[in-house]
Amino acid sequence: MTKFTDLNLNPKVLKAIEEAGYESPTPIQAGAIPPALEGRDVLGIAQTGTGKTASFTLPMITMLARGRARARMPRSLVLCPTRELAAQVAENFDTYTKHLKLTKALLIGGVSFKEQDQLIDKGVDVLIATPGRLLDHFERGKLILSDVKVMVVDEADRMLDMGFIPDIERIFGLTPFTRQTLFFSATMAPEIERITNTFLSNPERIEIARQATTSETIEQAVVEFKASRKDREGSEKRKVLRALIDQEGEKLTNAIIFCNRKMDVDVVAKSLKKYGYDAAPIHGDLDQSQRTKTLDGFREGQLRILVASDVAARGLDVPSVSHVFNYDVPGHAEDYVHRIGRTGRAGREGKAITICTPRDEKALDAVESLVQKTIARLENPVKKAPSRKSTEDPVDAGNDDTAASKPKPTRSRRGKSADKGQDAPKDAKADQATDADTDTATAPKSQSRSGDKSANAEKPAKQSRGGRGGKQDRRDDRKVVGMGDHMPSFIALSFDERRAS
Ligand code: AMP
Repeated sequence: MTKFTDLNLNPKVLKAIEEAGYESPTPIQAGAIPPALEGRDVLGIAQTGTGKTASFTLPMITMLARGRARARMPRSLVLCPTRELAAQVAENFDTYTKHLKLTKALLIGGVSFKEQDQLIDKGVDVLIATPGRLLDHFERGKLILSDVKVMVVDEADRMLDMGFIPDIERIFGLTPFTRQTLFFSATMAPEIERITNTFLSNPERIEIARQATTSETIEQAVVEFKASRKDREGSEKRKVLRALIDQEGEKLTNAIIFCNRKMDVDVVAKSLKKYGYDAAPIHGDLDQSQRTKTLDGFREGQLRILVASDVAARGLDVPSVSHVFNYDVPGHAEDYVHRIGRTGRAGREGKAITICTPRDEKALDAVESLVQKTIARLENPVKKAPSRKSTEDPVDAGNDDTAASKPKPTRSRRGKSADKGQDAPKDAKADQATDADTDTATAPKSQSRSGDKSANAEKPAKQSRGGRGGKQDRRDDRKVVGMGDHMPSFIALSFDERRAS
């Protein structure tokens, strides 16, 4: 077995590794470090949890230990898709450069330009950035990329999901042709293949078996859930979630709850908090200081439940999470593996429970075929509520589930399309939020299909205001005071129609 001491790393880096408690290199480290130290391009097909961050930081630090940075001309560049990942890579640099004098700057959104400019002005050895922020600095003339000797692209597939590939291509073009490139991606989509063929030169390809095989230490289960009524799906689903959490009792020390949509992240966190659970949300729309605070709290054990979107939680390194809940089945089957990989780390026991609605079944099939097993079904802990009253929860009803508590006109009076018209805006709103959500890359296909459905559901609502079907319904439903049931039909026509007729 390869040892760190066989890898030609700087002795001060080796010392830091030893202090970090690592005994031997992981396969991606053993595969990537030697060619990287020889100055070759590396194409690492590996995902988070494999030790890939150290597989590029360790050789970079060893190489950077020779030479010095010049003002505004970073010597190396690491591009990450999210602020959290960038911050995590920066932490890794701090750990491994402990005994060396290397400087770094972190260019991420949510941090003031002024502070970042000051660091860059002094000259940095490593610049760790998200693509957009890096280009902002470049365009302001604060950054010169012509001295970049090593460029790392981390989580390229996630960059693709987030639409950053054009930025990455541009950044490649701004760095010297002679640079060394270390490129990492969990999957090799055709677009990623194209980028690597264009910008990498005869790379050493190291592929770590896909983590399709989920860790044996993770107990997995699926709870099938069907709402009693569409407009109660949210509140009933959150009730199931709470029951699942409660059911785990003290075994649940901390948990991450994944939602496909940012909007659900907020709603679920808010609802849990109202029910007295120690929960907080994390997603891309929250400001950086809030995200950092929430994450630090979770890592340090002050926060018990983190409600997260895939992008925000991708690659987060929280050493021990006892439970993962999938509030939705993820749309990309690989995300399931990433999500549940947050628990059961380093041989620890973990449990992952997924809530599956009939709409999610296709996505669940994809997950089961990726992990090549049928996930055990768990009985829904919420028994069918005997009466409507008992299914309503007072907190939700007064808050995010007002639909359940508001008295509704009966179907017979309002007619079908009028009914849809009332319900549609709620769904349509959710769908709009989904569309605007950068995390939607991960929204399940089956969900977007249902999204289409609810977007369509808005049409009858609009029609009912001016279209034919709606008018017919209104004519049937409307009553004019004093006319009883014998209302002349012209009274129900709109002015436009009366003029036309
Ligand atoms: P990564 O895949 O880079 O997100 O790393 C996942 C986790 O593995 C991090 O907590 C690292 O600190 C840890 N790690 C990285 N390399 C090693 C190693 N050689 N031995 C043990 N743990 C490691």
